[in-house]
Amino acid sequence: MKIKFLGTSAGWPLPRLGCNCEICKSTDPKDRRTRTQILINESILLDAGPDTYHHLTGDSSPKAQNDRSVDPTKIEAILVSHAHLDHIEGFWDLTHIYNAYKPIPVYIVQSVLNDVRKFIGIHGQNLKTHVVKPNQPFEINHAKVEYFPVIHGKTPAFGIKVKDGPILAYIPDFNKILPSSQKIIRDCHVLIIDGSSLSKIGQTKGHISINDGIQIAKNLRAKNVYFVHIGHKTGTHKFLEEYLRQNAGPSFHIAFDTLELVV
Ligand SMILES: [Zn+2]
Ligand SMILES: [Zn+2]
Repeated sequence: MKIKFLGTSAGWPLPRLGCNCEICKSTDPKDRRTRTQILINESILLDAGPDTYHHLTGDSSPKAQNDRSVDPTKIEAILVSHAHLDHIEGFWDLTHIYNAYKPIPVYIVQSVLNDVRKFIGIHGQNLKTHVVKPNQPFEINHAKVEYFPVIHGKTPAFGIKVKDGPILAYIPDFNKILPSSQKIIRDCHVLIIDGSSLSKIGQTKGHISINDGIQIAKNLRAKNVYFVHIGHKTGTHKFLEEYLRQNAGPSFHIAFDTLELVV
């Protein structure tokens, strides 16, 4: 399984506009973060936030301007964790992909689709909506995919499990995982999890902190853990990696934009 982290920030990118804090002033490319979005096997897109266009053209890559390592015509499915704008605004741009071989299926839970429609349409000749039920696995190519419910304040929200040999669990925004959902992702190979704040400082109601995430990941016995949705009240990538090394262990990491894993 190939996992590409296209974006790793919380609702607003880093550096924040007008800010001079240590993260926002950092010259490390790993501290430049755009909205959280993941690409699996070059073909399954998880979430569709406002940076989607730049992720799919490669021009948000800190490595190189116009890094064409992502080919939008290869996308075969789009999945959506929930309908907050930092996860769906890119649907506007996704309605115009040229040279795609057929309309791209958007697999989505009904409650999320209802919320998406309040903000933005999923229509146009490039996209086709398929409503799927939580806790009912379906197949995309050879991968088995399943939405599982999580608590994210009052917004209907889901984690996404992808099993393609190894098991990946993606939960960018949540403040609680129900025991029934924990069972589904226990022992997963890669857990991609909410890192909106480091501790209680700056933590908002709908999110866990990185400190909470360490405990949750340990309870789930996740083999490798990558924090995404990194917020402003956290630290530089370098600081956070060291923090995890000391407080969590070698299997815990802070993801960064353009990170690629093969598991
Ligand atoms: Zn979010
Ligand atoms: Zn959210």
